[in-house]
Amino acid sequence: MSDQSAVPSLPLPGGASIPQLGYGVFKVENDVAADVTVQALEAGYRHLDTAKVYGNEEGVGRAIRASGVAREDIFLTTKLWNDAQRFDDAITACEASLERLGTEYVDLYLVHWAVPVQGTYVEAWKALVELQKRGLARSIGVSNYPLPQLREAIDATGVVPSVHQIELHPYFQQRELRAFHEEHGIVTESWGPLGQGKSDLLENAAITEIAAAHGATPAQVVLAWHLASGLVTIPKSVTPSRIVENLAAAQLELTAAEVAAIDALDRPDGRGGADPSTKES
Ligand code: NAD
Repeated sequence: MSDQSAVPSLPLPGGASIPQLGYGVFKVENDVAADVTVQALEAGYRHLDTAKVYGNEEGVGRAIRASGVAREDIFLTTKLWNDAQRFDDAITACEASLERLGTEYVDLYLVHWAVPVQGTYVEAWKALVELQKRGLARSIGVSNYPLPQLREAIDATGVVPSVHQIELHPYFQQRELRAFHEEHGIVTESWGPLGQGKSDLLENAAITEIAAAHGATPAQVVLAWHLASGLVTIPKSVTPSRIVENLAAAQLELTAAEVAAIDALDRPDGRGGADPSTKES
């Protein structure tokens, strides 16, 4: 069940492609990340998601080198933190991330949050456009941009983000942003895909019934729903068996009726993380 060839990829503008199921390392301490990321690569993941603010870029870079997996076979994402959105700061921050990761480029660089109140989300996006030109980031995107700020960044530059990484799970399905993404060819990437362990999502009867029908786990059902919905997703676990279990979700095929049953779980108050419209720093 560790066959990465089972993980589909989605095309990105410019000829790159992004594996739909990756491995996230939010809240994983640097030395632990160095260990669990090797396990993830050994299990077969070829897509890693870190960020400057996670404090584990060095550990992730160490894991890549220790794994023996060729750098070009890995899709690596990191993110610009909110305190470095000024143009020159963003360029320097990306260079510093690459230094910590021990690589000459990332496959995807994201502005981590718009933080509308700071008023620098367009400037940050302009810096990412420059970083892509310089080859430091093969693809560029944003994360946690409310629709007005996303439109503004696109209008100011004429450059559409390749990817928008947003909180997304069955209780919070982000239909409005997804419709905009579809219209503009933006790949939607789900963070917190399992609900971050903050709700009863994995005990929800609709999900546990589908899991029982397939002899799968609730987490696998939720991840299979992300994949069937055309989303990219990056579940996190530091538990070896769950690292393998989550990747194997790529082999689980849900019926249209099962996908529809999970679609029906969307809730107006389903957000679990910070609201990107009001986040202040
Ligand atoms: P997640 O939804 O992936 O939940 C992770 C938690 O779910 C684990 O800590 C564990 O408690 C549980 N879990 C994992 N596998 C399980 C399994 N098989 N069975 C039962 N429980 C399981 O939440 P996340 O880590 O916050 O999000 C995933 C990734 O998204 C992060 O690691 C990070 O890379 C990214 N992320 C990005 C942002 C952003 O602002 N862009 C914010 C949060 C997370």
